[in-house]
Amino acid sequence: MSENTEKHGFQAEVKELLRLMIHSLYSHREIFLRELISNASDANDKLRFLSLAQPDLMAGDAELKIWVDYDATKRTLSIRDNGIGMNREEAIAHLGTIAKSGTADFFKRLTGDQQKDSQLIGQFGVGFYSAFIVADEVEVFSRKAGEVASAAIRWASKADGEFTIETTTREERGTLVVLHLKEEAKEFADGWRLRSLVRRYSDHIAFPVLMRKEGEASLDWEAANQAQALWTRPRSDIKDEEYKEFYQHIAHDFAEPLAWSHNKVEGKREYTSLLYVPGRAPFDLYQRDASRGLKLYVRRVFIMDDAEQFLPMYLRFFRGVLDSNDLPLNVSRELLQQDSEVEAMRSALTKRALDLLARLAKDEPEKYATFWKEFGPVLKEGAGEDPTNREKILPLLRFASTHDESDDPKTTLSDYIARMKSGQERIYYLIADSITAARGSPYLEQLRAKGIEVLLLADRVDEWMMGYLREFEGKRFKDVSRGDLELGGLEDDASKAAIDEAVKENKKLLKRIKDALGDRVSEVKVSSRLADTPACLVLSEGDVGSQMRRILAASGQAVPETKPSIEINVAHPLIRRLDATRAEDEFGELALLVHDQAKLAESGSVANPGEFVRRLNKLLGQLMTAS
Ligand code: ADP
Ligand code: MG
Repeated sequence: MSENTEKHGFQAEVKELLRLMIHSLYSHREIFLRELISNASDANDKLRFLSLAQPDLMAGDAELKIWVDYDATKRTLSIRDNGIGMNREEAIAHLGTIAKSGTADFFKRLTGDQQKDSQLIGQFGVGFYSAFIVADEVEVFSRKAGEVASAAIRWASKADGEFTIETTTREERGTLVVLHLKEEAKEFADGWRLRSLVRRYSDHIAFPVLMRKEGEASLDWEAANQAQALWTRPRSDIKDEEYKEFYQHIAHDFAEPLAWSHNKVEGKREYTSLLYVPGRAPFDLYQRDASRGLKLYVRRVFIMDDAEQFLPMYLRFFRGVLDSNDLPLNVSRELLQQDSEVEAMRSALTKRALDLLARLAKDEPEKYATFWKEFGPVLKEGAGEDPTNREKILPLLRFASTHDESDDPKTTLSDYIARMKSGQERIYYLIADSITAARGSPYLEQLRAKGIEVLLLADRVDEWMMGYLREFEGKRFKDVSRGDLELGGLEDDASKAAIDEAVKENKKLLKRIKDALGDRVSEVKVSSRLADTPACLVLSEGDVGSQMRRILAASGQAVPETKPSIEINVAHPLIRRLDATRAEDEFGELALLVHDQAKLAESGSVANPGEFVRRLNKLLGQLMTAS
């Protein structure tokens, strides 16, 4: 080691990543090459971008390239670029830590189960550190563009928790990564193998990936890839395999995309877009600060990785590329936010993305089911927040339903409408904590008895979303746990008369219950919802429901007071027994028990669980002494 050598420890997360990667990714070993070539390509992209403002950064070496070379005897493999390079500080920061937000959360989710971990790590994008899947030692030589030769650095590590960094001299600009391959990875020091990997994973990289022409000694280099950015080629020339590999390159995902849409727009505004629907959700899908957006190019020049201005938040799971002919090369994030051109592109791309989903839903329902499982709740955000495209989003929604046996959401609103009973004017739905809880809900009892279908919702966003939805194809949405059921033509005169009759007959009982419950409820009514349950609580239309209450409470916000009404199933034996109870204190205890049960069924908790259990046990005790 020379005098200026410094030793550094890796960030704890990097150590963890290295350990897991080496053990979990054995079956995907070859991805290291894709990652390193991708970094080389990024480095060239960045330099090309900077050189627009500072042309002398490219001085003497203006053709950006990537070189892949190997030495079978020494068992080494090297990847070199003449891009932006790294100085000492950058190498320490970038090759010793993981900058991505949510890293710590991500590591909490890793289990030590190899298969699961390799899936998760695949989502994380293993990047530079993947070199250690095949190498027991990695050296990085780099000279930053614009720096003198003697300011170059050498970074080295054996993945043992530490790396060293020292100053060295280097004639060439850019970065050279040298892998000292493990014995069991020596197959990668082979021209044929490398060439086929480059062709497979890096064909569409916009820079030539050069390899020696005939074996190790040759001085002739030739490109092993097409070196043409994929999206610039005509659609008809591109094979599905190539689209998939390009996706894996930009998304750092092992899995295949579910669908894509590649379009060239010409005319007043000119741009090419290539949008992908991933096959699974990234780990940080619900993190506010997670990076999202498209890779932005202006006239083939790479500008930024995550231009989030081109798609709305609720389509943040889309990955892809946007190459504009009109935006200025010096476009910045701030500029993108104000630009009216960008606004117009965003609205066109949003439509295109939604059309792609509609096509997937129609042509490949199984893939769409996968999409829905991974991203459904995110798309639901759009149903709420994007009134302009609501008409396009509503048909994309999928619901669990009392009509389906399986809990997998597969009912569309059109399915529902087609199955509506004659005289039915509403689209009935119920929101609960889980589909299972929804199925068991007392609110469904009479509707089920009448054979009326109810959509079952259990995602966190559902109450919020349904608050924005009024109707679909002229039929209004109706929450079956609120207000009047609005059965309209579904209710015959006989059952209406029966309810009126019951109200009359039970007038005294209802009053007694109201007196016993006091302020807990706004009103006591005869129920048209229940069959097997003695009572249920019913909110009015505008009240905040239990799902929203919990979300508000969890985020520390004030939860508005609501006072539900209670509906009584006057035919239920327990209610008949209540009616027959003369002693007022006993009546009061029983009425509170009925109320708390209803509260439990509605929101999953009661105001005073201890009291509730005490009351219940007292009653059980009486039952036991009676028998
Ligand atoms: P990512 O590419 O997703 O940022 P990586 O782990 O692949 O993550 O790389 C980490 C960082 O190291 C890069 O963001 C870049 O700053 C730096 N880096 C890696 N390879 C190179 C290279 N060939 N030239 C310049 N910088 C590089
Ligand atoms: Mg990378």
